[in-house]
Amino acid sequence: MAFEGLSDKLSAVFKKMRGKGKLKEADIKEAMREVRMALLEADVNYKVAKEFVAKVTERAVGDEVLESLTPAQQVIKIVNDELTSLMGETGARINFSSKPPTIVMMCGLQGSGKTTHSAKLALHFKNQGKRPLLVACDVYRPAAIDQLKVVGAKVNVPVFEMGQANPVEIAKKAVSHAKDYGNDLVILDTAGRLHIDQVLIEELQNIKAQVSPQEILLVIDSMIGQDAVNVASSFNEALGIDGVILTKLDGDTRGGAALSVRAVTGKPIKFVGMGEKLEDLEPFYPDRMASRILGMGDVLTLIEKAQTELDEKQALEMAQKMKQNSFDFNDMLSQMQQLKKMGPLSSVLGMIPGVAGKLKEEDAEQGEKQLQQVEAIIQSMTAAEREKPSLINPSRKRRIAAGSGTRVEDVNRLIRQHEQMQKMFRQMSGGSKKGKRRKMPF
Ligand code: GDP
Repeated sequence: MAFEGLSDKLSAVFKKMRGKGKLKEADIKEAMREVRMALLEADVNYKVAKEFVAKVTERAVGDEVLESLTPAQQVIKIVNDELTSLMGETGARINFSSKPPTIVMMCGLQGSGKTTHSAKLALHFKNQGKRPLLVACDVYRPAAIDQLKVVGAKVNVPVFEMGQANPVEIAKKAVSHAKDYGNDLVILDTAGRLHIDQVLIEELQNIKAQVSPQEILLVIDSMIGQDAVNVASSFNEALGIDGVILTKLDGDTRGGAALSVRAVTGKPIKFVGMGEKLEDLEPFYPDRMASRILGMGDVLTLIEKAQTELDEKQALEMAQKMKQNSFDFNDMLSQMQQLKKMGPLSSVLGMIPGVAGKLKEEDAEQGEKQLQQVEAIIQSMTAAEREKPSLINPSRKRRIAAGSGTRVEDVNRLIRQHEQMQKMFRQMSGGSKKGKRRKMPF
């Protein structure tokens, strides 16, 4: 899979960082050196890797991270944010003209996947209700026209061709054909070369000048590594591209192109090719790609939720109370309410890798019900009872059970659990005989 090497290396860096607990500035700098190496080995452009690491370091050595309870996670979150922003923040899409047809000009080197992706795009937009027309402007490569006809037939999209005629003329005629036949999307499959050459560039410039495409999409093979940046820059300077389709991401590409292209050209990746089949086209989402590179699944969403929903100060107070053994039912209730803010239990658990997929719906429902029951029982207690559970005698238990729609056994169970928690906290905060205080685990 693409990015495998980069993912493995980054996760090794983060694992080492997590093992350290509290981080010093030197730890972050050391980790960032390793991140930079990992990026370079994945074929990320040298300048891009350097700037990326500088940005992450600047944010990561701030107080916010160093003082945090979970510094390693904060650093991972920053890396994730910066990776996302490197690839363009939000997903960029095709701009459709208000006056159809919209003209999309595909360009790129030979073998990059232009013809295949012309058909993939046609299929993608046909499925969204458009009426595409594929146009064979590659008149030099033997069999290029036939290849387009074959893929066109596969996706059931008409192909406009004029044999070996002048590509500029073909493009112009195709546009008027589209107007006559009601095709609202014209996809020009232009010629490629093994290397960028002046003749090719001039031909593309002429087509651009004559038909004014709304979108010039550069098709780049992600397997070409560092070269992707040069190809993208050259095409962009000569033609002013609007976006990139990065192909063959299903292979074992090291992925550097995905991370460098946008930073170097300022032009977004709009689609990625994920296989040889004509359905294998995906709109590009920088945030999902970043999570994928970090191999984190939705844990990042979880961290983010925890950051926005949970109050760190409150968490510290809670830890203090546990140490002092004054964790009462009010605290238990407020902890449960914090947990609830993060969403249904099933979705919170489902975001944890390893749990997702294995979690049975019934288990999550059961857990949810138990949480509700505990909440109802605590809410049926008086303020005095919550603070001092020892007040709860049998008649109070009966009242609480009736008030919360539960049974006395349920109330008893909760009181027992609370006692066990107290006992556990006592042990953790250093009741050991030799007077050695054991460290709190949080
Ligand atoms: P063109 O010369 O730029 O028109 O490139 P083609 O469309 O002919 O593609 C070149 C080769 O790459 C073909 O064998 C395609 O099947 C293959 N190809 C194109 N896109 C992808 C992709 O996303 N994944 C994989 N694995 N192969 C692809």
